[in-house]
Amino acid sequence: MTTLPDLGRPPEIPQSALTTALALIESGRLHRYAEAGGSGGLVAELERSFARLMGRKYAVAVNSCGASLFLALKAAGVRHGDPVLMNAFTLGPVPGALDHAGAKPVLVEITEDLTIDLKDLRCKAKASGAKVLMLSHMRGHLCDLAALQALCCELGLTLIEDCAHTLGASWAGQQAGTFGIAGCFSFQSGKHVNTGEGGVLVTDDADIAAQAILHSGSYMLYAQNGTPPPREVMERWQGRCGNYSMRMSALVAALALPQLPLLPERVADWNASHDRIAARLAQAEGFVLPHRPQAEAYAQSSLQFRLPARSFWQMQAFVQAARAAGVWVKWFGTETPEGYSSNPQHWHSAQAEDVPRACEIQATLCDIRLPLGLSPQDCDALADVLIRVAANISEAHDVPA
Ligand SMILES: *Cc1c(COP(=O)(O)O)cnc(C)c1O
Repeated sequence: MTTLPDLGRPPEIPQSALTTALALIESGRLHRYAEAGGSGGLVAELERSFARLMGRKYAVAVNSCGASLFLALKAAGVRHGDPVLMNAFTLGPVPGALDHAGAKPVLVEITEDLTIDLKDLRCKAKASGAKVLMLSHMRGHLCDLAALQALCCELGLTLIEDCAHTLGASWAGQQAGTFGIAGCFSFQSGKHVNTGEGGVLVTDDADIAAQAILHSGSYMLYAQNGTPPPREVMERWQGRCGNYSMRMSALVAALALPQLPLLPERVADWNASHDRIAARLAQAEGFVLPHRPQAEAYAQSSLQFRLPARSFWQMQAFVQAARAAGVWVKWFGTETPEGYSSNPQHWHSAQAEDVPRACEIQATLCDIRLPLGLSPQDCDALADVLIRVAANISEAHDVPA
């Protein structure tokens, strides 16, 4: 029997990052700012590199993607009690960022392809009067971003993109994270760049950048940021933005910097594994995989599939059996949140009743993480376990009412 790979294995930290990090620790200068002759150090360097990578004017490095989502909402002018639209397929830190900003979440339906339902977006935007859309490209699935952008324009919606799963992805040649007023990225270990924790906000808007820098806690040292907006813009916001202490540490930047050039290699590796497993599952009885449009270039570090004919109890039996067979399957249909996974019914501040279709889709939706470096044999072995386990689930697993 083949041994199955550890799906939880995070991307490796390059040796050069360790050398830089160690020298930094020896110097003790781990804070990004310095009063006497500071230059912003490695965090400023990361901001310049990341802005260049994304083709944006400004990058603001912070301590998590969740923090960057919150800062984007604040900078977009969201105030306590404001309605904010969000797609109903995402991770807890997204409704959490709305909660943090005091916003009222207005959940929007998703399609079977796991992307935002544009028809429902139009209805909910009109009914709620919301002026901001927090769009999560959850698990790397991009909606028709050209159509979405046109709709936002028509409805007067400010778009913020949660790009925690889309570093390296694009729609019709344009990178995810550059369609709205701000794009927010994660360096959490399960994402495309692994520093444990960390986040970056990118924008072309000087006012958004200025507020994010000041809110993140730059004191009067904001000129040390890697991509500072013009002085008069900073002075306009100075004194009007609370210091929320959400800065990135220099140690995180030391770990992130040498990983940026590895992204194309990592994306090719992830996509090769994803596509091989997906092709096999798509042929198997009972499995439904989301359709990927031509315009979408994804960077798929995980794989999603549905078993739409299955009941709650059969899903539960499938997940348990897959795990027992060595494949750590995650399921979006659990009654209570489990591990990292959750669904609209679990977000205390949101109204799951508003998105019955999204709840129905997630009831039979599963997910596996894809570590880097899977061999074709690993991929086939993973797919075979999932197919075999699913074939063994029947009505016998249903609990009589
Ligand atoms: C991980 C994740 C986040 C939050 O990232 P952190 O850096 O952990 O705050 C937000 N959205 C999605 C979809 C995520 O997967």
